Amino acid sequence: MPELPEVEVVRAGLAPAVTGARVAAVDVLDARALTRHDAASGDFESLVTGARIEAAVRRGKFLWMPIGVDRAIVGHLGMSGQLLLRTPDHPGDDRHARIRLHLDHPEHGELRIDFVDQRTFGSLAVDRLVPTADGEVAGFSAGVTGPWAGTIPAQVSHIARDPLDPAFDDRAFLDALARRASGVKRVLLDQGLVSGVGNIYADEALWAVRLHGEQPASSLTRRRGRELLAAVRDVLGKALAEGGTSFDAQYVNVNGASGYFAQSLNAYGRAGLPCPRCGTPMVRESFMNRSSHRCPRCQRLRMPRQPASA
Ligand SMILES: [Zn+2]
Repeated sequence: MPELPEVEVVRAGLAPAVTGARVAAVDVLDARALTRHDAASGDFESLVTGARIEAAVRRGKFLWMPIGVDRAIVGHLGMSGQLLLRTPDHPGDDRHARIRLHLDHPEHGELRIDFVDQRTFGSLAVDRLVPTADGEVAGFSAGVTGPWAGTIPAQVSHIARDPLDPAFDDRAFLDALARRASGVKRVLLDQGLVSGVGNIYADEALWAVRLHGEQPASSLTRRRGRELLAAVRDVLGKALAEGGTSFDAQYVNVNGASGYFAQSLNAYGRAGLPCPRCGTPMVRESFMNRSSHRCPRCQRLRMPRQPASA
């Protein structure tokens, strides 16, 4: 499942091609790829056809492209959705292609975006843009701005800011940690509190600060909470930097699914392999229908210190 760094690679690849482009035509090849589109707001094809795309914006792992000032095309990538940039002569025989947007760009000419999804959990939608709750810029658009900047698609407005967002509220995050008795990994995956962190980067950040994922969030000191947040930022930043180098200048084949960061993982997917810090074999444990990976020595569950008895 794509997390923040993978989606940012997609966004950065799409941005130069879509910003300022006009949608010349739309092919909906599989209507299941519009399950998140509310038909009551209008027909997807007619809303998109002729529209000018203003930017490619991301919050956490959600991506949208404002069209005009009050609507956006929202990409829900699901488990396997991809937005692939194609030249117009690229063969159109991809059997997993669900929707095609034919673009006309003032500098780059004709281009095509294929929404490709091996499974069908992903969706595109046209959605209303609503003002952000905190009045700040809604998401990351690499400095491209416009009247839409302080607005967010209604479908995405419940998603919290991601930790790389300059408007992310550290204090509110640390306060929330202190209030929650659930395991700290579960809290990291709560997209309503902090977005963009999925299973992979949660395991990596927890390994970095030697925390067990089941450690109750409320048992962390403020200092440990800050260390964890710094580790999350560090891991996301490193993954972004690696993704960025792999995909730099590769704007005709945007593909966020490759495992370019895999060689840098310390915990995720390393069950049975030695912990890079202490050499103890790493373990895999089931977690919310998925797996957690940790070092049984460095990342022990620690009982909250009992108050000293009088
Ligand atoms: Zn270890």
